[in-house]
Amino acid sequence: MIVHCFTCGAINTHLYAQLRKTWGIQAMARPSSGSDLAAFREIFSKSNNIAVITGAGVSAESGVPTFRGAGGYWRKWQAQELATPTAFAHNPSRVWEFYHYRREVMLTKNPNPAHQAIAECEERLGKQGRKVTVITQNIDELHRCAGTKNLLEIHGSLFKTRCMMCGHEEANYKSPICSALEGRGAPDPDAHDAQIPVEKLPRCERRGCNGLLRPAVVWFGETLDADILSEAEKVLDSCDLCLIVGTSSVVYPAAMFAPQVAARGVPVAEFNLENTPATERFKFHFHGPCGNTLPPALARHESEAN
Ligand SMILES: [Zn+2]
Repeated sequence: MIVHCFTCGAINTHLYAQLRKTWGIQAMARPSSGSDLAAFREIFSKSNNIAVITGAGVSAESGVPTFRGAGGYWRKWQAQELATPTAFAHNPSRVWEFYHYRREVMLTKNPNPAHQAIAECEERLGKQGRKVTVITQNIDELHRCAGTKNLLEIHGSLFKTRCMMCGHEEANYKSPICSALEGRGAPDPDAHDAQIPVEKLPRCERRGCNGLLRPAVVWFGETLDADILSEAEKVLDSCDLCLIVGTSSVVYPAAMFAPQVAARGVPVAEFNLENTPATERFKFHFHGPCGNTLPPALARHESEAN
């Protein structure tokens, strides 16, 4: 199955139109209420296999810039202009400056209460023989930082590299990632390209390779990793509760997964800052910052043994 990275607004609009048609989604804002929470908690307490799909909103609550939308610029570009194979082929130095900046910024950011509530829930339920798996489009590793272990990063990670020559992928937390990028990556609109020669950019350290490294993230126009995607599908096929956090069930990536879950009659709960279109298929919608709404939803239930 080939799934393209549906991350631009135009495609989301298209996808949403498709979903309206396919699933009969009505544009309606459903306010959450205390009774919603009580009903959710009842289902939560009986769930043994919980899938949590997370999107940009969870990172945004930790102050992670997305370089999208109004004001979301690095120099004079947005992510969709730099996070592409074409941009990297034309100017690997500039694209590496952009990613170097993002990696360095992440050193100053921390998981927020939403990340922590998910990780704490995974650990607690794990001891009871119950499973929580996080499927995230975020590349900042904040779920990992918070302690989440069952994690599928469908867009890869800022802290992984892939060799353009031998294909080897590995974790890389170096700061700076190479000496030529030290002090580079300034985001101001009038900052100049460092124009680092390609041989001074991050290179593969496997013996005899020395290929150019790129960030191991899924760029615009690229397909998702087939193995990760099939793992995600397995999780969704076996879950008995699905949470969609910091994004909407009708926006990528949840839009790709949620209908599959809802079609099996599995309850889906959205935790999102924005009022989003929701259907009866998607059982719950909790409106507000997920750092506020998620902790009480995932806290220990009175029926939990320990
Ligand atoms: Zn290599």
